[in-house]
Amino acid sequence: MTTQYEAVVGLEVHAVMETQSKMFCDCPVVDSTHHEPNVAVCPVCAGMPGMLPVLNKAAVEFALRVALALHCEINSTSIFARKSYFYPDLPKGFQISQYEQPLAVNGWLRIPTESGELRVGIRRVHLEEDTGKLTHLGEDGDRRTLVDLNRSGVPLLEIVTEPDLHTVEAVRNCAYALRSIMRYLEVNSGNLEKGLLRIEPNISIRERGSQALSTRVEIKNLNSFRSLERALEFELARQAELVDAGGAVQQQTLGWDDVRGSTQAQRSKEVAEDYRYFPEPDLPPLVVDDKWVREIEADLPELPQEKRKRFVEMVGLSDYDAGLLVAERSVAEFFDAALGAIHKADAKMLANWITGPLFELLNKDGYSIESLPFGPEPFAELVDMVASGEINASSARSVLSEMAANGKKPKELVQARGLAQISSETDIGELAERVIQKNSQQVADYVAGKDEVLNWFFGQAMLASQGKANPTLLRQALRVQLDAARAQKEAS
Ligand code: ADP
Ligand code: MG
Ligand code: ZN
Repeated sequence: MTTQYEAVVGLEVHAVMETQSKMFCDCPVVDSTHHEPNVAVCPVCAGMPGMLPVLNKAAVEFALRVALALHCEINSTSIFARKSYFYPDLPKGFQISQYEQPLAVNGWLRIPTESGELRVGIRRVHLEEDTGKLTHLGEDGDRRTLVDLNRSGVPLLEIVTEPDLHTVEAVRNCAYALRSIMRYLEVNSGNLEKGLLRIEPNISIRERGSQALSTRVEIKNLNSFRSLERALEFELARQAELVDAGGAVQQQTLGWDDVRGSTQAQRSKEVAEDYRYFPEPDLPPLVVDDKWVREIEADLPELPQEKRKRFVEMVGLSDYDAGLLVAERSVAEFFDAALGAIHKADAKMLANWITGPLFELLNKDGYSIESLPFGPEPFAELVDMVASGEINASSARSVLSEMAANGKKPKELVQARGLAQISSETDIGELAERVIQKNSQQVADYVAGKDEVLNWFFGQAMLASQGKANPTLLRQALRVQLDAARAQKEAS
């Protein structure tokens, strides 16, 4: 997009609230990838006539956690509304949602961007129920559509941001931040591929410097963060080209086609009247007790952006490292616990050992930090052993993989495998001497002025010690002895 235009984006996010049971009946919320279709269905969520919904309190609590974490004003009375439309995945012919009086309004969150922290307004947070799922099969002439109602009536949370996002980076970070908050709050596990989290950007462009809002489009079917970014880039470029050519953006809903890498018109945007919204007669207004709200608020965990701030300001980490550590609550808690257990290492070194070797191990073996057979204390002990010079970094890495394999304590492993670092000056001196004596040609090279031969000696000596030599001491000893040989030559 040319620099003449500014992007204007607001997000509508639908998150499945991973409660035990559905929103208005006691059917379980099941993961459709692990269940047969239509195993979690009852007359209520199948939309049988005469069935009455009963609100799931857990869903309200989940929604309140998110609304409070997003600093929203909670409406002590909110109203369920019927949103009517016809579609075969919607057995009742309407979806129970909230419209005029949602559960929560006027919140905000802070997100990191390249140019500093950005405050993004939250317009509303409301409750609604999910629809069923259609699977289209067959070819022309033999098309069939299968209906699965496992998802029908699953509690959804809708979060609507203000159009405060002006770069692709900000949109991505906002989506990440919302996902991360919901994962911290154990409301939603954040899986876009499975459709547990659906992120729909509303996108328009305007002349840079203008405050006006232009006509926008909404994009659906984004199954990954990658698609979100691609769709934004594509749509911003399309709109700029259109406007440059003297055209006008039509308000519509577009579907992203990941294979073609482009958006396709789905339907022209419905206006509210099309849905015939009216208050749901089968449910009383939702009244939330202020005391309950305060209790939920008091129980909120420290959230990712707050943790990040603390790691930077109180612990002294770089913003980048802090960001890596807070992305997952379990990792941040692991760091905090390990930080409390280190004696020799400092916070920076600990952070590096988590974001370096530990993350590598987790990625390689597909572990999550919770599934490791060791906790933060043994990990802290290992990093301490490196800090104090008891073992070197490469030994520590191999100890770490063994810890992951068998859960044994680092001290035991170091002892059993004889990995303790050689740190005695006498032993290191002898080691250097042995290697120097064996390689007179390389000594001659060094004496003749080839300084880089020192590295070669270092490699040989390290190998001879099976990686156990203290690297700083070894390098020092080699330099001293080689320089002595050089001095002797010069003197003679
Ligand atoms: P609706 O209820 O029709 O979906 P809203 O007015 O509630 O529409 O807005 C939906 C989303 O669109 C919000 O995230 C909002 O920030 C965003 N939005 C509104 N106007 C614009 C605009 N001109 N450009 C980009 N996003 C917009
Ligand atoms: Mg909308
Ligand atoms: Zn049911």
